Amino acid sequence: MKTLKLLNYAADQWVAGDGGLAEVHSAVTGDVIAETGSNGLDFKAMLDHARKVGGPALRAMTFHERAWMLKDLANAIMARKEELYELNYATGATRTDGWIDIEGGAGTLFSFSSKGRRELPNGRILIDGAMEPLSKGGSFVGQHVFTPLQGVAVHINAFNFPVWGMLEKLGPTLLAGVPAIVKPASATGYLAEACVRIMIEADILPKGALQLVMGGVGDLMDHLTLQDVVSFTGSAQTAMKLQSHPVIARKSVRFIAERDSLNASILGPDAAPGTPEFDLFVKEVAREMTVKAGQKCTAIRRAMAPAEHLDAVQDALSARLAKVRIGDPREEGVTMGALASARQLHDVREQIARLHKQARIVSGNPDHVFPGHEKGAFMEPVLLRTDTPWSADAVHDVEAFGPVSTIMPYKDLEDAIALANRGMGSLALSLFTFDNKVAEEFVLNAGAYHGRMVILDRTSAKESTGHGSPLPVLVHGGPGRAGGGEEMGGIRGVTHYMQRTALQGAPEMLSKVVHQWLPGADKPTGDVHPFRKRISELEIGYTLKTESRTVTLEDVEHFAAFTGDNFYAHMDEEAAKANPIFDGRVAHGYLILSFAAGLFVDPAPGPVLANTGLETLRFQTPLYPGDSMRVELTVKSKSVRDEEKGEVRWAVYVFNQKDEVVATYELMTMNTP
Ligand code: NDP
Repeated sequence: MKTLKLLNYAADQWVAGDGGLAEVHSAVTGDVIAETGSNGLDFKAMLDHARKVGGPALRAMTFHERAWMLKDLANAIMARKEELYELNYATGATRTDGWIDIEGGAGTLFSFSSKGRRELPNGRILIDGAMEPLSKGGSFVGQHVFTPLQGVAVHINAFNFPVWGMLEKLGPTLLAGVPAIVKPASATGYLAEACVRIMIEADILPKGALQLVMGGVGDLMDHLTLQDVVSFTGSAQTAMKLQSHPVIARKSVRFIAERDSLNASILGPDAAPGTPEFDLFVKEVAREMTVKAGQKCTAIRRAMAPAEHLDAVQDALSARLAKVRIGDPREEGVTMGALASARQLHDVREQIARLHKQARIVSGNPDHVFPGHEKGAFMEPVLLRTDTPWSADAVHDVEAFGPVSTIMPYKDLEDAIALANRGMGSLALSLFTFDNKVAEEFVLNAGAYHGRMVILDRTSAKESTGHGSPLPVLVHGGPGRAGGGEEMGGIRGVTHYMQRTALQGAPEMLSKVVHQWLPGADKPTGDVHPFRKRISELEIGYTLKTESRTVTLEDVEHFAAFTGDNFYAHMDEEAAKANPIFDGRVAHGYLILSFAAGLFVDPAPGPVLANTGLETLRFQTPLYPGDSMRVELTVKSKSVRDEEKGEVRWAVYVFNQKDEVVATYELMTMNTP
């Protein structure tokens, strides 16, 4: 393979580092495969370019437009994924490892794209939570909103997942409307560079939305402002160094960190040898040790079992690890490749030496040299054991970022929880138990120390995504030692790149600002029934005020007979009166809903395609036989999905003859755009 000359992407140009290039070696052969460097880049100009060109272009788009952009990017990556798999082998990763990185990365973009289109408005301001009434007369209200930060997201990524690690940050950032400068780790940066090249060549992103630094970041940190975010993944040491940069503190620059994590996995007290949970535990610990050669921030570093089962765990795990075939990841049958670099191999050996002072090695030889692969960063999986976990500080403190894990005993559940929490904050914990009491105890007493908890048992095993997989829809991050950061978690992850602002004002004013009808805002009416209008013709706030109809006792009895709902409050005057809420027989809530539809529906085929549901239904005032009801149906928000359909949300208010609110709800319909 000829040496790759890696380029930076600055201000929409591919530029080479100006001298001082570093050599990058194949993890498998040790050969030089790339040269990389960022000397000569004008970091201030890059930040300015992102702020002045990328940011405004992204912010001019709606959430949906940006979500479609993510889907296009993911498709572009998938179309050229084989180019990435080709480079993936040089990082020491097998095809399966590469699948997590490459297709997992594209999958994360797909996921954010779909969530963005389903859960965000097709607008540019994101509403956060419900409107808060602030005055008696209702003319002054509050509403939290999110708007995109006007700076740059600086992504500093780890070496272990060069594609996924980049895309899991880029997805939420771009969806929020914020441009990014990505700095991959040097050891595997060639894979990230290739992926960026694919995205740039696909010509999907606006100018200035994405830039790439293939080396040190020079004086970039000096030029950050309150509108920027640094999102870092890597060692605690570098995180601390960056986080203590004076500009970060002085200007309150947001800093998201994913750092080391001494993740624990616990075999429940009920999961004795012979139970499905025991087998699952052994399988998962072995898998976490060997996938990506254990170079996963979420990998299991500490495996805990009831003292009486520790020998059985050791035997079963050692037997499983003995079957692992280590070698060139391109070779058929190889199940574990190399570490990412010779430096990484050296670091992991050093960390094992530290662990070894307090724990003994029960399987694997960290110094084993693989014949024919002397220059590659290969290592056997190394299983350590301590029988005195409370005095073996190192096992709760030293992260050997490779195929390394330590098994240890616990006395009882309390002891297991305390040991798990001794990692001082982790990204992921797994618990193997079929006993819900054990699980509840664990969640209650260990939850505060762990960012994600996976409870695995025989029922979920087959479909489980396992201990070590961060998912785009769930939070990834952990307290304390894990960095205190939070990424992904669905739309939560998008808001890390936005500012939350509490808006206050008149409902009509705020409604116009956020493009959503808020209670108390104007309700214009017109001659045309709203069901006759396409989404593009529907005005936010447009309201249909219906005729009223009287609800009779016959209606209630007819409804009861027809549906079978003979609940006493509708059917038995005395029993209904004895109920503290009612003065006598009341109309069924569902009858009110049905009559409401009868009042507001316009029957002929038209732009309304289907009723897709209702939310936040509240029955507020009982409706008695003889009372009358009328409905106000207001366009609350609208969102076009594609050329054929979109969603309209309607605020529905049902009133009685005294204009008291009987029921409120939000109705959703699918309409033609
Ligand atoms: P580092 O902290 O050294 O590197 C992480 C990233 O930070 C890389 O992109 C690196 O770039 C960059 N970086 C390093 N120094 C600076 C600096 N002064 N200014 C700006 N950027 C900088 O971690 P490694 O990737 O080398 O991994 C070391 C350890 O980190 C692992 O052994 C493991 O313990 C932990 N780790 C944790 C992960 C997690 O998700 N929790 C993931 C990966 C690693 P460059 O490569 O060019 O130096």
